[in-house]
Amino acid sequence: MKSVGKKVVVFGSFVVDLTGRTRTLPVPGQTVMGSTFVMGPGGKGSNQAVAAHRAGADVTLVTKVGKDVFGKVATDFYEKEGMNTEYIFVDEEKETGCALITVEEGTAQNEIVVISGACGNITEEDIEKSRALIESSDILLLQLEINFDALYKVIDIAHAAGVTIVVNTAPAAELPAEILKKLDIVTPNETEAQILTGVKIENGDDAKKAAEVLMEKGVKQVVITLGSMGAFAMNNEKYELVERLSVDAIDTTGAGDAFNGGFVMALAEGKDLFTALRYGNVTGALSVTRKGTAPSMPDREAIDRFYA
Ligand code: ATP
Repeated sequence: MKSVGKKVVVFGSFVVDLTGRTRTLPVPGQTVMGSTFVMGPGGKGSNQAVAAHRAGADVTLVTKVGKDVFGKVATDFYEKEGMNTEYIFVDEEKETGCALITVEEGTAQNEIVVISGACGNITEEDIEKSRALIESSDILLLQLEINFDALYKVIDIAHAAGVTIVVNTAPAAELPAEILKKLDIVTPNETEAQILTGVKIENGDDAKKAAEVLMEKGVKQVVITLGSMGAFAMNNEKYELVERLSVDAIDTTGAGDAFNGGFVMALAEGKDLFTALRYGNVTGALSVTRKGTAPSMPDREAIDRFYA
C-alpha cells in the first residue's frame, strides 16, 4: 500500500531466526526433541521496520549483514516486501546475525539466544553513510541489538538534528543518564523497564511508578508493553493503560516488535502518544495470532479492522 506521513528510519539489527517448536522447553543441560523447524528473517530492527512498513509507514531500515547465505535471506525478503534495500550494509568478515528460538507448543512461551554477528559491528563508516538519511528523517526507531558505541553515535546525530528518537530498550540493558535525556520516547517491556528503573512491574500502578522514574531521568514520554496485560503510556499530562485485545495467542515471539512498528506508524501519521499506544496494542495482538516474527506482522487493513 502507499505509505503516508512522516519519514521513519529504523537503525537496527537483522538476524536470521532459526525457530524450533517443542512440547516442553528444555531446562539447562537437557535435550528435548522438537516437532518443526522454520528459518526466517528476524532481528528487532528488521522486524520493527517490517511491521511499520506493513502498517503503512514510509520507513527505511539501516542494518548490516554478512557475506553469506543468510545475508541474502535479508535482501530477498525486503525486495519481496517492497522495502528499500539501499542501507543494508555488508560486513567483509563478520557473519550475518542469527537468533536461536525455541517455542513451547502448549503455552506459546519462548526462549531466545541472539548472536549479533555483522549488526554488532556497525562502524563509523556505516554511520557516516547513513548520516544524511538520519538527519532528514522525522522519527528514528532504535533497539539495543547493535553495538552500543554505534547506537550512541546515531542517537547523538538524530538528537542534534531534532529528529524524534524512539528507543525500544530491548533486549534488557541499562542506559547511561546522558543518553536517556536525549530520548523522546522509550518503549521497554515490563522486564526491561525493571532493569532501567529498579521497579518490579506486575500491574498498571507499577508501570506508572517505573514510567515516573524514567521521566525523572529525562525521557520525555514512556510506553511500557505488558504482554497479556496490554500496554501503558505516560507523558507529562496523563497516563493510560490499554487492555490487550482478546485473541488466540499462537506464538508471542515478535509481539514487542509488532507493537513498536504499529506504534511508530501511528506517530508518523501525526497521531498522539495515546492513539499510537492503541495502534501498537492492536498490531502486537494481531502478530501473536500467527507463527514467526517478521512474517507474522499484520498489514494495515487488518490493523484498521481491529482498531477501536
Ligand atoms: P517479545 O520479546 O516476545 O517480542 P515483548 O515482551 O517485547 O515480546 P510484550 O509486552 O509481550 O512484548 O507484547 C507487546 C504487546 O503485544 C503487548 O503490549 C500487547 O499489546 C500485545 N500482546 C502481547 N501478548 C499478547 C496476547 N497474548 N494477546 C493480545 N495482545 C498481546
